[in-house]
Amino acid sequence: MRYSEMFLPTIREIPSDAEVISHQLMIRAGMIRKLTSGIYSYLPLGYRVIQKLEQIIREEMNKAGAQEVHLPMVQPVELWQESGRWVHYGKELLRFHDRHDHEYCLGPTHEEVITSLVRNDIKTYRQLPRNLYQIQTKFRDEVRPRFGVMRCREFGMKDAYSFDVDEEAAEKSYEKMFEAYNNIFRRCGLKFRPVEADSGSIGGKYSHEFMVMADSGEDAMVFCEKCSYAANLEKAEVACPEKKIIFEDDWLPLEEINTPNARSIEEVSVFLKVSPQDIVKTLIFNADGKPYAVLIRGDHEVNEIKVKNYIGASDLELASDEMIQKVTGSPRGFAGPVNINIPVLVDYSVIDMVNFVTGANKEDYHFLNVNIGRDFKVEAFTDLRIVTAGDSCPRCAQSVKIARGIEVGHVFKLGTKYSKSMRAFYLDKDGQEKIMIMGCYGIGIGRTVAAGIEQNYDDQGIIWPMPLAPYHVIITPVNVNEKTVMDAAENLYDALMKTGIEAIFDDRDERAGVKFKDADLIGIPIRVTIGPKNLSQGNIELKIRKTGESILCKIEGVVETLQSMIASELKTDTP
Ligand code: ATP
Ligand code: MG
Repeated sequence: MRYSEMFLPTIREIPSDAEVISHQLMIRAGMIRKLTSGIYSYLPLGYRVIQKLEQIIREEMNKAGAQEVHLPMVQPVELWQESGRWVHYGKELLRFHDRHDHEYCLGPTHEEVITSLVRNDIKTYRQLPRNLYQIQTKFRDEVRPRFGVMRCREFGMKDAYSFDVDEEAAEKSYEKMFEAYNNIFRRCGLKFRPVEADSGSIGGKYSHEFMVMADSGEDAMVFCEKCSYAANLEKAEVACPEKKIIFEDDWLPLEEINTPNARSIEEVSVFLKVSPQDIVKTLIFNADGKPYAVLIRGDHEVNEIKVKNYIGASDLELASDEMIQKVTGSPRGFAGPVNINIPVLVDYSVIDMVNFVTGANKEDYHFLNVNIGRDFKVEAFTDLRIVTAGDSCPRCAQSVKIARGIEVGHVFKLGTKYSKSMRAFYLDKDGQEKIMIMGCYGIGIGRTVAAGIEQNYDDQGIIWPMPLAPYHVIITPVNVNEKTVMDAAENLYDALMKTGIEAIFDDRDERAGVKFKDADLIGIPIRVTIGPKNLSQGNIELKIRKTGESILCKIEGVVETLQSMIASELKTDTP
């Protein structure tokens, strides 16, 4: 495309409302513009990148045997009532009425619609398995849209849904998608990791998030460099420590001590001159209306998801002041396990502790020398905390590391969650009615593009990996008023068009410096510079955006050179 005809409004200044680099660069490179909070338009350059990604996704999904559909975005209330999510989905679901006063929502995801489609048209085991996918717009009324298209309200998603006859078959479908996702993100040229994620009530190893590694990422992941263990921070496990032998002779007498106004671990630690490692924090949780005490070493944080899963609660929150007062007999800040009449769950970090400090269930008092077994009863020792760097890997005991990432995809085994409530049944070989087993698989389109930028930029702008680049080459004649230069540029542009190399021809009457700046900002992988001096010797210059390297080459044969440079970076074979 000729630059002079393009709708490509680049901006030099950093937009003031863009916090992360990908958001800044997508605006500056003329890829997106905000319409209103969390809602963006893609301009031609941005949309080309989207289409590149979608093409890779389509190829890999089709290769994995999935079939493309296109489902409606407007969804009737009845379907959501059937699945039970009309009540549970909360405020992210945008609901509205039509002129006949029927209620609808804008699809934040499509489990309901796909299940209703499949249950009507798939009747027997002979029609299974099936995997259906779409690339479509979702709407989620996020509380705090941020980071441009990374967390917005209206966004593109590839979502796929698998239907199988039994668990074993469903696992195969899951594995296929897992592999397809690996292929997709590898082909995009991104550094990523699949990590185990919480699968709530389904459990097991059937939820993985695909994380693009980036320091700006909202998510933290835990990984082990020795074995292949990787999990998101919510899910990451702590191995059960080997229990040291505790000698009861070491137990000192329990002592109640006045600690005026010392509530937090920090305050108690300063007041008593003990380290947080010698204090046990007691948190009271409300699990579906029932109180639980959770004990953890003072320097650790409780992982509420682990607590929720351990109890098997559908709702879990920190107890209210009223509940704390009721179960401990004291205000917030002084809870402890001694003389408490609710189940006490103890994190592994407390197993080996002796003579520790806890709250005394009495305003302004703590206990010294608390000991498990003597002073309180434990309902369970289990893993309830958030992993920290240096903790030992649950698989191989090596120290784990923590890195940040952006969740770009999610594969999830749904089991019978929707097929049961929405009655997606089939007849098996013996004519028996059975429930289909489902899986769902999402990729955020805009978020993946933004994540690609977070990984590939410098202070001049974006550095597109070839597979996502909106154009492969930008031809830059340094002076449009010089005929020989322009003729050479026109000829090259023609030749590139004929060979299918995607090129921008910067035919604008601008200073070379301006053109170079724009080329760097929009991140085109190869810049071909045509100037009178080089040209008089039959040469042109290729500048590689990623390495900054300049290569002088003969104008004859440059098309082939470009072709092979591009092809080598578009390789799609699996290593
Ligand atoms: P998050 O935890 O980031 O909100 P999610 O768990 O709600 O994500 P899914 O429901 O699994 O996400 O959706 C599948 C994919 O859609 C995500 O992996 C992500 O790439 C993308 N996605 C989800 N929410 C948004 C959003 N608000 N803006 C852009 N992309 C999104
Ligand atoms: Mg979400």
